[in-house]
Amino acid sequence: MAAVENPTEYTVSQRNLTTQLPDIGKPRIVIIGGGFAGIQMVKHLRMKDFQVVMLDRHNYHTFQPLLYQVATAGLEPDSIAGPLRKVFDNEKNFFFRMARVERIDAEQQKVYTSIGEISYDYLVVAVGTQTNYFGNQKIQQLAFPLKQVPQALNLRSHILQNFEKAVTSDSEEEVDRLTNFVIVGGGPTGVELAGAMGELKKYVLPRDYPELDFKVMKVYLVEGVDRLLPSMSEKAGKRAEKDLTQRFDTIVKLNTLVKDYNGYEVTLGNGEKLISETLIWAAGVQGVIIPGLDKATVEKGRYVVNEINRVNGYDNVFAIGDVAAMYTEEYPRGHPQVAPVAMQQGEQLGKNLSNLLREKETKPFSYLDKGSMATIGRNRAVADFPGNIRFGGWFAWLSWMFVHLLFLVSFRQKIITLGNWVWNYFTYDRGTRLIIRPFNYRRAIDDRNDKLEDNHRNDEQKETHEVS
Ligand SMILES: Cc1cc2nc3c(=O)[nH]c(=O)nc-3n(C[C@H](O)[C@H](O)[C@H](O)COP(=O)(O)OP(=O)(O)OC[C@H]3O[C@@H](n4cnc5c(N)ncnc54)[C@H](O)[C@@H]3O)c2cc1C
Repeated sequence: MAAVENPTEYTVSQRNLTTQLPDIGKPRIVIIGGGFAGIQMVKHLRMKDFQVVMLDRHNYHTFQPLLYQVATAGLEPDSIAGPLRKVFDNEKNFFFRMARVERIDAEQQKVYTSIGEISYDYLVVAVGTQTNYFGNQKIQQLAFPLKQVPQALNLRSHILQNFEKAVTSDSEEEVDRLTNFVIVGGGPTGVELAGAMGELKKYVLPRDYPELDFKVMKVYLVEGVDRLLPSMSEKAGKRAEKDLTQRFDTIVKLNTLVKDYNGYEVTLGNGEKLISETLIWAAGVQGVIIPGLDKATVEKGRYVVNEINRVNGYDNVFAIGDVAAMYTEEYPRGHPQVAPVAMQQGEQLGKNLSNLLREKETKPFSYLDKGSMATIGRNRAVADFPGNIRFGGWFAWLSWMFVHLLFLVSFRQKIITLGNWVWNYFTYDRGTRLIIRPFNYRRAIDDRNDKLEDNHRNDEQKETHEVS
């Protein structure tokens, strides 16, 4: 298959990373991305049959479902992020390189990265997603995304800095602007974040800032469709709305789109304006598409794969997790972009690659949906399980905590997270409301503007701005 022409120069290093790896006479699997899918894949490979090289732009795995707790001072980053080298430190055939992959050359069987090029026998693309702003550049420049640890830390600093400023302000308009928060997207991330902001407003911040009247602090949750949690049952959506509005006075705006934002004022589709210096974008994601593979392999920002996650048209290139679109009868638009799908695809591909090498039969991927949950502040959550089992309240909240602890990568993370949760629960406090790294919102906007201009490096990436 022909590689996509790429007219732009890449800032890739010319170093040959292959020469730095020992020659062990085994096929090399290069995995791009140490997320849920990439890690599970390695865990289920027969490691003695391969040389495994994992590349990730960060040296740590991020447990994205709990990012919102870092952003709202509930957890420290090391509770949800763990070093990738540590995960496989007992495997002698495993190598990790911190590198950003910029391009794939399937004909030469190489990937080009920020630290050099590396050749592969099998390539596994497990790069996940990035925030989707649906082509709205202004919002992309000004809004807060929540996909990575540094973004969560920026948001944490920004929220706390706003209150530090508000307490010294004598302008009502400025206090409004600083203490109003607009969250866009009523899916699990938006709902959980709104609940956490509600808890800050109700229990934590009034003790820190007794001079401020917290009745003026508003948390808006804006959703484009007619209910919250559209990926869950109607009952769960209704219950989440009721809990948020009744317990935390969250202002939920359904059937409402955000049209514009200037850094101070959010304009909604119906013309209404919300004053706020904080617009948090939790309204959608799109796959990270790495230039180089045939354009025909990408649909709606995801690589189209067959039943064993092989990218269409390539023998030895696979995609797993959020970035893969496997169309099946049950999932005609591809599987949901959630952690269990990524983990199960990783596991299955790990086993299948071992089978392929031994010329054994491979097994098609089949998703086992174990249900979904979302928490709405302390003591409350909603849960939908297969077989129409739906419940909410305290038991759902307990189940939510248990499941999240279970899936954290290391034992250390489980212990720290549990410790923090117990502390927060009994003290109604958030121990990590620290402005360690002050966040300069205006300077960040300038930087983002510069990056946006640089970012349009090729046609392929522009196309992924489509709604996925
Ligand atoms: C805020 C938030 C909350 C969520 N909550 C839930 C939830 O409650 N339940 C649930 O099931 N799912 C949730 N999800 C979705 C879940 O996190 C994803 O489905 C899951 O992370 C997908 O796993 P993955 O391995 O495909 O990708 P990821 O986990 O995103 O991993 C991709 C990896 O690729 C790396 N990478 C990307 N580009 C490059 C590159 N060019 N070069 C090198 N490395 C690269 C990244 O650094 C990352 O480590 C949430 C997501 C977010 C953002």
